[in-house]
Amino acid sequence: MLSALTRFAFLICLALLAAYIVLSNWGVDSAIIAGMSVLAVPLIYSYINLARLRRYVLSDAVETMPLPSGFWEEVFFRLQRLVRNLKQEIRTVEQQHSRFIEAFQASPNGILMLDDQDQIEWCNAISERFFGLNFKRDALQRVNFLIRRPEFIQYLHKRQFEEPLLLERMGPGANLSLMLQAFPYGDKRHLLLIQDVTDLQKADAMRRDFVANVSHEMRTPITVLMGFLETMQSLDLDKSQQHQYFEMMMSQAQRMKSLVEDLLTLANLEANTLPAPMQAIKIPTLMALLKNDAEALSQGRHAFNFDISSSGELMGEEREILSAFGNLVSNAIRYSPDVASISANWRVNADGEGEFSVTDTGPGIASEHLSRLTERFYRVDRSRSRETGGTGLGLAIVKHIANRHQAQLIIESTPGKGSTFTLRFPKERILQQG
Ligand code: ADP
Repeated sequence: MLSALTRFAFLICLALLAAYIVLSNWGVDSAIIAGMSVLAVPLIYSYINLARLRRYVLSDAVETMPLPSGFWEEVFFRLQRLVRNLKQEIRTVEQQHSRFIEAFQASPNGILMLDDQDQIEWCNAISERFFGLNFKRDALQRVNFLIRRPEFIQYLHKRQFEEPLLLERMGPGANLSLMLQAFPYGDKRHLLLIQDVTDLQKADAMRRDFVANVSHEMRTPITVLMGFLETMQSLDLDKSQQHQYFEMMMSQAQRMKSLVEDLLTLANLEANTLPAPMQAIKIPTLMALLKNDAEALSQGRHAFNFDISSSGELMGEEREILSAFGNLVSNAIRYSPDVASISANWRVNADGEGEFSVTDTGPGIASEHLSRLTERFYRVDRSRSRETGGTGLGLAIVKHIANRHQAQLIIESTPGKGSTFTLRFPKERILQQG
């Protein structure tokens, strides 16, 4: 490749040579014209190529422009390669950028990026939902103008970001608890990470309530038991009085035993997240057992009607099913006054689902209680529950057993008339006979 200077010198020589040849034949004027003409050729060639280059640059088609021949070929070629490389780099950076954005959007946590003025530089869709923001509208707005909670404004102002901040009643329905923490990065910028801790907070509150309830349930019989023990220690009681006191102590101990047993049953059910096994349970045998237990508990005070409307076996865990069905029957007996009638029925409905229902003509339950009956320790009639040895855990146990069998617990009740508790099992758990 010739250098630019050599090319230039070569061109001048060529022009001089042309002028010299013409000079000897046609005079000075013609010689100048001949020399100038030789010099004009590359100028015209360069002008044409520059015009082409301009056209390709303006239409952003440098990458695809055809290469000229000669001196401009290399210029075009290098320019084309430079543009291609630059565009490729931009594409790679853009892809990386959108992958980062996609990853931040996929995060289950809210992410807010603040600049050194606490203005929003970027935020993901979750934080838009948490705080009612709209990134397109709110970009570069100061975050404390948009999230107006005093505790948040104070948190930003204090700049002590070692501890997270809990914001309650947030979100579109004002029902979310959010844990927020700021992390400094870059040049006085901050990353706000926001986690939805609503379920954790609820679980924590439930755990606290549960511990308080268990302590309360245990304290009463223990206090009564200790009272009896002290009385027996300090008073000189005759045989029949002693017997009476022992009976009462026994009933308190029995109450604690039932509570501990129910708590253990619940704990086992909660620990077992797998669906119940598919063992075939013979409904007639189960109904006979239930009837026996019901008659023993009622001691002739109720009229019973246990019947099986359809044949068909239930597939499940026999011990659990007996406990769930037994709980419903024992509730009907315990909450219904004497002479009430109680019926228990097993049938397979038109959709092939299995239904076990217990109907009583007892006091019924007001509708506002129905949705809460399966909560642990929830009682409508506290004193009746205690008098009859209830722990407040029976229906919570039934509900867990139902869940393990993919069954529904349906409660229908009319105050003053009675209640029907139904366990409905999916058809996959019913083994049709005949
Ligand atoms: P408990 O051990 O107190 O019976 P459960 O969880 O079995 O606890 O029942 C919760 C509450 O539901 C009971 O305290 C009672 O008020 C109400 N209940 C349950 N079954 C019946 C029923 N058949 N009739 C009226 N009330 C009922």
